[in-house]
Amino acid sequence: MRGFITIPASVSCAVCKYCGARPIIAMAEIGEYIVKCPNSEGHYQTEPGLIDMDDWNLHNIPAANRQIDVAPGHSSEHFFFLNGAIMSLENID
Ligand SMILES: [Zn+2]
Repeated sequence: MRGFITIPASVSCAVCKYCGARPIIAMAEIGEYIVKCPNSEGHYQTEPGLIDMDDWNLHNIPAANRQIDVAPGHSSEHFFFLNGAIMSLENID
């Protein structure tokens, strides 16, 4: 684990279904990222690979209490935005 970045508040995404936290993006290996809950390794996290917000959202949408409106048509915009954020972080390293 080399570090993590927080997802900007302007990006709409599902919160952790267990504790309600916004997810973070952790670096697994070079070029591989995990979208995960910041509070517990036991809460849902995506498989290492590309940043998969869709997968996170699919697994964390509460059945009865959706707190954030996830618009499926906008996920690709978010992906590009997040990629930009990660490039910035790697440059700092
Ligand atoms: Zn959680």
